[in-house]
Amino acid sequence: MTEAQKQGQLIVISGPSGVGKGTLIEELKKGRSDLGFSVSYTTRAPREGEVDGRHYFFVTQQEFQRRVETEDFLEYAGYADNAYGTSRSQVEAMLNRGQTVILDIETQGAMQVRQRRPDATLIYILPPSYGELKARLYGRRTEDEASIRKRLALAKADLPYIPQYDFIVVNRQVTLAVQELDEILRAARWKSCYRQEVIQQYQHSFDEEEPTGQP
Ligand code: 5GP
Repeated sequence: MTEAQKQGQLIVISGPSGVGKGTLIEELKKGRSDLGFSVSYTTRAPREGEVDGRHYFFVTQQEFQRRVETEDFLEYAGYADNAYGTSRSQVEAMLNRGQTVILDIETQGAMQVRQRRPDATLIYILPPSYGELKARLYGRRTEDEASIRKRLALAKADLPYIPQYDFIVVNRQVTLAVQELDEILRAARWKSCYRQEVIQQYQHSFDEEEPTGQP
């Protein structure tokens, strides 16, 4: 393990509902024990095939509120009538193990993470176009018409926040998008916030070489 890998890094992935974030993250994770995925809490009802504790922790509104009050969440937000939150302790445990932690969260939550964890790397996934996003949402048949409309409106509401992300990936083709995400994750390890030790060593090397402070 190189020095740059010792500390786990925090990665936020956002993008409109239907853009394929779930698939990209699944692909990215394949065969990689260094990547940890934070399982969020939500008040949304499970979709067909979703497993409690794997896709989400499905909780009641009361339980969610209790966790808000006890400050269990690193961030939380409302999205399409439901609440979603990231467990602070889960994220910290993975980061402490040196894992790269991926959060699949919407824009409001991502902005909270940016405030609380300036070291986090924020990635926004774009669909090739709005038309394609619409077609994907209608095509996956997991939501009713009203919910799809709500999600499309939310996609539009994201527009002003997109430039605040560090990286943008267009999901035209899954393999290519996963490759781009992988490159971003690799590069992010060399961000200065993860290289404090090297920076300090370099600073100290000045003192060793020039104890008087004079070059
Ligand atoms: P879905 O209901 O389609 O699974 O998720 C709806 C939206 O909620 C997605 O944009 C997803 O990224 C976001 N989301 C999932 N978990 C969290 C979370 O813990 N916090 C926040 N802020 N958003 C989340």
